[in-house]
Amino acid sequence: MPEFSSYDGAEALSQLKTRTRQLEDLYAAMGLLSWDLETTMPPKGSEQRAQQMATLSELSHERLIDPCVGKWLDQLKTTPPESLEEQAWVREATDAYEKAVKLPASLVRAFSETTSQAHLVWVEARKTNNFSLFEPLLTKIVYLNQQKADALGYEGSPYNALLDLYEPKLTTQVLDPLFASLKNQLVPLVEAIKNSSLKPQADFLSRPFPKASQQAFVKDVITAMGFDWQAGRMDEAPHPFCSGTGVGDVRLTNRYLQEDWLSSLFSGMHEAGHGLYEQGCNPEFGGTPLAGGVSLGVHESQSRFWENLVGRREAFWQFWFPKLKQHAGSALDGVDESTFYAVVNRVEPSFIRVEADEVTYNLHVMLRYEIEKALIEGQIKVSEVPEAWNAKMQSYLGIIPPSNTLGCLQDIHWAHGSFGYFPTYTLGNLISAQVWHAAEAYLGPLETLLAQGNLLPIRQWLQKNIHQYGKLYTPNQLIQKVCGEPLNAKPFTDYLWKKYSSVYQLN
Ligand code: ZN
Repeated sequence: MPEFSSYDGAEALSQLKTRTRQLEDLYAAMGLLSWDLETTMPPKGSEQRAQQMATLSELSHERLIDPCVGKWLDQLKTTPPESLEEQAWVREATDAYEKAVKLPASLVRAFSETTSQAHLVWVEARKTNNFSLFEPLLTKIVYLNQQKADALGYEGSPYNALLDLYEPKLTTQVLDPLFASLKNQLVPLVEAIKNSSLKPQADFLSRPFPKASQQAFVKDVITAMGFDWQAGRMDEAPHPFCSGTGVGDVRLTNRYLQEDWLSSLFSGMHEAGHGLYEQGCNPEFGGTPLAGGVSLGVHESQSRFWENLVGRREAFWQFWFPKLKQHAGSALDGVDESTFYAVVNRVEPSFIRVEADEVTYNLHVMLRYEIEKALIEGQIKVSEVPEAWNAKMQSYLGIIPPSNTLGCLQDIHWAHGSFGYFPTYTLGNLISAQVWHAAEAYLGPLETLLAQGNLLPIRQWLQKNIHQYGKLYTPNQLIQKVCGEPLNAKPFTDYLWKKYSSVYQLN
């Protein structure tokens, strides 16, 4: 091996490429082990599987923080590559390396020990509605996240360091005005809908819809969306997700509930939206740090685009409702298209985020954002979380959860140590509406295509303008390039007001 000092730019880049390709292979192997664990692994395999995953995780961490990587990156700072692809490659590698070396091993260990303990305690606390059981561990998790923010470094709020882990360069300076404008638009919309005399009747949703028929319908829709079954598959898992090992191997999961078949349908479209993003990446980026989605927020914009902006639109059901009826057996007897459409777009303030509708959903996220930020900035104590939670529920949605199980104990994120993750859900919703506008500017009214069942031109436009780029651009650059404007809430709130004024006949 040559001395570090003898590397020139070209050699440093070549070494860095080889190393990061190895890392991507290790991550793909870990992803596959984890997919298998969630889908088909026999239960008795779990202990060894945890060991296998820990080994791969340690190996990849060692390969990433190897001092050689730092030397190559130093060299590339003085002699940066010329092509956009290689610059992006170096940018991604630098980001991963710097984050990994800044976190002391002792902190990483404390974090992983505390969160694995917290998971079990959170499950029990949620089951028994006992916040004080979870409180000491959550206090420790907040403290460790503050330590993490200090180690990573930040400008402004320490919460910015945590946001950056999920959405590169996202800050509270961006989020505060975004959420403020959402609050201004959404709280009155929820109120107006609550006062509407229209109450969609959803009782037919509890009629049995055979699982095989649900599966067949979901598969038809996903196929029409352009999902490539030669480069992907769909299996069953208790929690729907999208993973895989690369552009040519994208794995969706879904679950099919007898008692809530509508959610199975929409979660199928949601995960397929993620899957199309992964499949649509430039194949030349496969196995490199440029593959896959650029950020959680942009990824979620693709799933929400299909799930909500397409899947909950009247024009979409003009084409698909007759087909759904064919699959539904007696579940849709006596139900017409307009009744179904109204139920698909039912808005009702509720306690649980993951069950929330398009209008109230972002208020659930905003509440979590405000509490997380206050915790990390030290403005409130963990013991004050239940009270803060309930006060915000009352103020934004007009309801107070009867228990912490239905309130601040409902999500797994904090037990996992994930602070800064929630806002990416809302970002996805906002970006999806911006993308819709951009697509219409090129393709004309998308509703015309939806009514014809012609989804492929939309998929092709998304691939050409978003998917193919992988991580070539930063999220902000990509949004600006695609939408001709920076991230903002207006297209989304305009869309909600227009649609729900019609669904609920608001004046
Ligand atoms: Zn998603």
